[in-house]
Amino acid sequence: MLLARRALRPSSTNFPLSKNLLPSITARFISTTTTTPNTTNLNMSPNNNNNKDTKQERGGEGGGGGGGEEPHQYQSGNRTDRPEDEWKFRAPYKIHDKGEDFKVKWRGKCHCGAVQYELSREKPLASKYCHCTTCQRMHGAPFQWAAIFHKSDINFTNGHHDLGWYDPTAKSTTHHLPCKVQCAYCRTPIMDEGRNMILLFPTLIEGINSPEGKKAFEVQSHMFYPQRVVDIKDGKPKFKGLADETNLVDEETGEEVVGSCPKEKEKRKREEEGDGEKGKDGEKEEKREKKDE
Ligand SMILES: [Zn+2]
Ligand SMILES: [Zn+2]
Repeated sequence: MLLARRALRPSSTNFPLSKNLLPSITARFISTTTTTPNTTNLNMSPNNNNNKDTKQERGGEGGGGGGGEEPHQYQSGNRTDRPEDEWKFRAPYKIHDKGEDFKVKWRGKCHCGAVQYELSREKPLASKYCHCTTCQRMHGAPFQWAAIFHKSDINFTNGHHDLGWYDPTAKSTTHHLPCKVQCAYCRTPIMDEGRNMILLFPTLIEGINSPEGKKAFEVQSHMFYPQRVVDIKDGKPKFKGLADETNLVDEETGEEVVGSCPKEKEKRKREEEGDGEKGKDGEKEEKREKKDE
């Protein structure tokens, strides 16, 4: 059955993302549910009770492999490859025990309310606007607002199994990192899950439009600014690609500022310091390599 499902995965050559994503998911959904005995999958609503008790699920799934009786086949795309079922018990999806020291600073939810979470960190580690075309398309918005958190900073209080995934690199709906995470019911984008961090979308957070919310989640920079569809003259650094790893773009002229990449600057500085303290070329090269690791 896995093979059959895999065959339905869109290939990058015949799958124009922008137009066909939803029909494709629907097609796969129907196709999958008709080949499994579990037709209760279709009964997915924000109020269902399928996802309440993590321990029960863990017991219920046992050795896995069967497929028919498992409660989570309704995830968007309907794919939970067996070895990857483990995700349910790891951050960011792990449910924090009641006794655990998890101080709630913020709460967030999707549009339909099926997916709800708490955050224990007062401020994100960083907050950025991403102007890349992938974000524009996937969010149906001029840019993406992403707030970076540790995976352990989030606690899903509801619907953490009502999630759908999309891996934009492979154009696949398997849970493969890094991926986009949505509410499987109302399709609100919840976060980007990276290998080590999560990027949350602050507009889902209660009180984000309050003075405290705006202050805590204020962005430090813009990424992929040359791909923008709107100009934002807010005086914040604007990077050509990834923040801090690429050259800056001048806000007024839109021109790339040669030699302005903070990472490169730092590297040059370290090299110069290295040059100052030692003489021989060979040693210098060796030092450079070590420091770049
Ligand atoms: Zn929802
Ligand atoms: Zn982006």
